[in-house]
Amino acid sequence: MEYRARFQCISGCDETYRLNEVVYRCHSCGGLLEVVHDMDQLKTRSAAAWMRLFDDRYKRNEYPYGSSVWGKKEWVCPAVDDDNIVSIYEGGSNLFWAERLGKEIGLEDLWIKQSGNNHTGSFKDLGMTVLVSMVNQMIKEGRDIRGIACASTGDTSASLAAYCAYIGIPAIVFLPKDKVSITQLIQPISNGALTLSLDTDFDGCMEIVQQVAENEHIYLANSMNSLRIEGQKTISMEIVQQFDWEVPEIIIIPGGNLGNVSALGKGFLMMEELGLINKRPRIVCAQAARANPLYQSYLTGFTEYEPISAQKTVASAIQIGNPVSIQRAIRVLKAFNGTVEQATEDEIANAAARGDLTGLYNCPHTGVALAALFKMAKRGEIQQKDRVIIISTANGLKFTDFKVGYHEGRLEDVTARYNNQPIELPARYDDVARVLDKMLGV
Ligand SMILES: *Cc1c(COP(=O)(O)O)cnc(C)c1O
Ligand SMILES: [Zn+2]
Repeated sequence: MEYRARFQCISGCDETYRLNEVVYRCHSCGGLLEVVHDMDQLKTRSAAAWMRLFDDRYKRNEYPYGSSVWGKKEWVCPAVDDDNIVSIYEGGSNLFWAERLGKEIGLEDLWIKQSGNNHTGSFKDLGMTVLVSMVNQMIKEGRDIRGIACASTGDTSASLAAYCAYIGIPAIVFLPKDKVSITQLIQPISNGALTLSLDTDFDGCMEIVQQVAENEHIYLANSMNSLRIEGQKTISMEIVQQFDWEVPEIIIIPGGNLGNVSALGKGFLMMEELGLINKRPRIVCAQAARANPLYQSYLTGFTEYEPISAQKTVASAIQIGNPVSIQRAIRVLKAFNGTVEQATEDEIANAAARGDLTGLYNCPHTGVALAALFKMAKRGEIQQKDRVIIISTANGLKFTDFKVGYHEGRLEDVTARYNNQPIELPARYDDVARVLDKMLGV
């Protein structure tokens, strides 16, 4: 069976484009594009048969279907040939049952979706595999693409650099100088990407890269590019699949450019339309108070929206004032009984650290989502038995500077309530014994 998908303008002007065309916005109205699938064709297979197929492929070795993204290829990007797929086994990240943390706030069924456990340490791999595969196919078809470019708050560039290095396509990444973690900077450097560190913020990098991508030999990998959303939406199928096809009550996700929350919603709508699920979760988007344009719009009931100038936040990957996917995100939140929550620097850092004390190792963005969770639980907006999923977007190991700053009490506007410090002692048993006695009474 040949499945079909294409780009379609989301402004309602009905323009469509083939997936192997170099097109980021509608040529006739400038609107964003989204990938639409031939749903009638997908409906010729029953919901039960889809679930069986996805389960049969999940984490098996038959390339590329063991990847949780490509295991759902027919729903993601049927246009790419298996031979052209650039996959490094993305998705299939574990769910961490946060039993102790849940108990502390009166919840029984709290889970952290560890999407930072992907190859480059963030969920960005889920989308990047689709984009780089499609570009690889376009190059094989004879199109003269010399490189793939992106602007990034750190994780997109790390992901792009890895996939490009894997297949041998040059990557060009634009990073805001001194606004990404040292790990996020060294990742594209290590993978040999042309790394341009610009004296501006993410929104400034984004403006430049859009100009750069007017050059027909450079393909643009930003989240305006909806191929990435297609890969990222598989996180919804994966979560439901991991619970034997049961839908959770609430999902909390941190948002910056708002592609990921849009992808999450798209995944659930697709499962609903194809009959795999018959209820929707409530989706909560969590923003840093210093980069909160969606939250501001939420306060007006989404009747108003103004881009803002994002302020410096520990949640550097979501320090974005003018999110590309704002309209997609608002549409999703309206469809999912959604709310938006915000968190201060103090709330973010302490929430991440509190979670760590129960075995997690949270990045600051996961801290934003956890801070939102704590506030909602305190206000009684979550029932004890509700199944709640926190989307952890990156691996804490990428944010060592944040962790060290927290535990040394050096983060601005943060009073560290859960900090811990190594105790330095001479190498003498008596000194060690005294500390053990004091701390543990042994
Ligand atoms: C990209 C990213 C986000 C935000 O995702 P958007 O799609 O831009 O909203 C959140 N956390 C981390 C760690 C990220 O890398
Ligand atoms: Zn249009």
